Formats: sequence, C-alpha cells, structure tokens
Amino acid sequence: MMAAVYRGVRDIRIERVPVPRISASEVLVRVEVCGVCPTDIKKIHHGTVPAPRIFGHETSGTIVKVGGRVDGFRVGDRVALHHHVPCLNCHACRHRTFAQCPQYKRTGVTGGFEAAGGGYAEFVRVMSFCLPGLVRIPRGNTFEEAAMLEPVNTVLKAVRRLDVMAGDVVMVAGQGPIGLMFTKLLSLAGARVLATDFMPERMRLGKKLGAARVMEPDSPELKGVVERMTRGRGLDAVVVAVPVDAAVRQGTELLRGGGRVLLFAHTKRGADAPVDLSTVCVDEKDLIGSYSADVTLQGEVARLVFRRAFDVRPLISHRFFLEETSAAIDLAAAPTADSLKVVVKRRA
Ligand SMILES: [Zn+2]
Ligand SMILES: [Zn+2]
Repeated sequence: MMAAVYRGVRDIRIERVPVPRISASEVLVRVEVCGVCPTDIKKIHHGTVPAPRIFGHETSGTIVKVGGRVDGFRVGDRVALHHHVPCLNCHACRHRTFAQCPQYKRTGVTGGFEAAGGGYAEFVRVMSFCLPGLVRIPRGNTFEEAAMLEPVNTVLKAVRRLDVMAGDVVMVAGQGPIGLMFTKLLSLAGARVLATDFMPERMRLGKKLGAARVMEPDSPELKGVVERMTRGRGLDAVVVAVPVDAAVRQGTELLRGGGRVLLFAHTKRGADAPVDLSTVCVDEKDLIGSYSADVTLQGEVARLVFRRAFDVRPLISHRFFLEETSAAIDLAAAPTADSLKVVVKRRA
C-alpha cells in the first residue's frame, strides 16, 4: 500500500509499505479521511519521536477485514477510529486521568512501524484494546465529519474540566480549528464566549459558531469589553488555544479570582515561563491543562457531530490526497487567511 512515512525531521516520504496484518482480535480499515493535527506537526517538525513512523490519528474509513474473534463489526462498516483507549482499571484511570494511563499511552491504531496512528496510509490495523473507541458512521454523515470526532472529543474533555455554569463568560484565545471547537462547545454549554484572533476569516467563523464577541487580542477595547460582559467581575475562565505565553498572561489578568485558565496548545517541553504565583495562591486562579481525548465521551461526541448540534463541516477548508500529505502538513503548520482544518483523503 501507499503511505506517507516520517523518516526524520521535516522528512515525509511517499513509500510502498506492506498492508498491516491483523490478528483474530483486530480489524483492518481502509482509510478514507485523516485530519492533520498540530501534535503530529510538532513531532514531524521537531523530531520529538524516533523515525520511521506513519502519523495521522484523526481517522475515518471502511472496515475491510475483521478478525475471527471480533464481535460487533462487519466488513463494509463505515467507522471513526479512536487511537488511545485507557484500561479504566489502573490507578490513573481510577482518578479519571485517562491520558496518564499506561495502556492509553500505547497507540492502538497503526499503518506499520512503531504505532503512531497510521492515518496517512491506505490501510490501518486497529488493535483489540482500541475497538471500544470505534464508532459507526450513520448513513447521512460523511467520512470527513467522522474524522473530526477525535479533535472534538479532546475539546469536549477540556470543556468538562472548566466546569462552566450557564451565563459564565469565557475567553477563547485563538480561533483556529481547535479554538473554534471551543467556541462552539462552550456556547452549547451555556457560556458566553469572547473569542480572540487576528485573522478576519477566523473571527467571522467564531461569531458564526456562537461567540458573543470576537476581537483582536491586542485591541485596546478588550479590557473594557470584559468588564462590561462580566459586570466588572472578570472572566470566569480562559482557554488558551494558541501556544503563546502572552495569551496566558493576558488571560490570567482578565480572570476573576477563583477562575480557571486552561492550556491546550502549550505542548512544547522545556520552555519556562514566569508566573506570578500569588495569582494562584491568593487569587485562587487555577492554571490547568487538558491533553488528548476521553473514550468515555465518545458516544456524546458522536451524537453532537453526527446529529449536527455541532456541524463541523464548515471547519474543513482544504483537502489533499495521500500522496500530497507533505503539502497538507505544510499548510496546517503555516495557516493562510482562508485555511482551517486540513484533511488527507483517499483518492476515490
Ligand atoms: Zn489530534
Ligand atoms: Zn488505566
């Protein structure tokens, strides 16, 4: 089969590799759509994991082979995949910190080599422990919508961590694909969203997805707007969906005492940032993070997306074929005025 293989820093090559073989407790899926995710870009651009690997984990496709011991799935089923599934049994899982579970850290979907998602290949093997994350795609929905389940799941998990009440005012810094998902899911949760971004098209979409206000983050009016929206209390929560330290600082300043700042894009290790720790200790402003998805939310995420309470289709701006994976990654890494979610598709 054809695959886009990571061979080293910024080195993605289109190669012929064997179709993965499955065991009796696994399924083989022909990839239809795979979204390009910033965490893959980071690994490719910084070489944070050893090569070779086949990345891509926002995957949907068609089951083409089912192991003899697998129940509940058939050849021909259209499915969305989920590549990290916790054991629900260990110490981390009992604390519901699923992303820290040893089984969760194993990637259970692969196109070959060290498992890394495999979505930038023609076929992927789904290991048995990841079958609970598989979701069937309803007839009226597309493979593109299904490929968005994984990122929407990560955002819903983070929104849950914010514990917002109806009427709370939440700032979402950054209206890229992930920031826009926050704007939508927070709005659905009853929050009033103040979204910030510099790009006009992203600001327009933020408004469309439910933001009460959309502004540029350096607008001199921002502080006054926060005061008016919150009657002088300050923001209830801030989501920082861009890897920008200044956004963390700004959000913390605009936050009320006892509020929460959630980091979603600060994935680069080894970068120190100054924090006035009294804002945590005295003002009780919590600085929290959220990483990756939660399989226990998968059913709810599927309902939101497939019934289109959250219609994700407007978020997909660019489509590339598998052999153009490098170009897809480059575009996602350096967004243009009109680019949002970039996906890689099977050539029909
Ligand atoms: Zn992702
Ligand atoms: Zn566990």
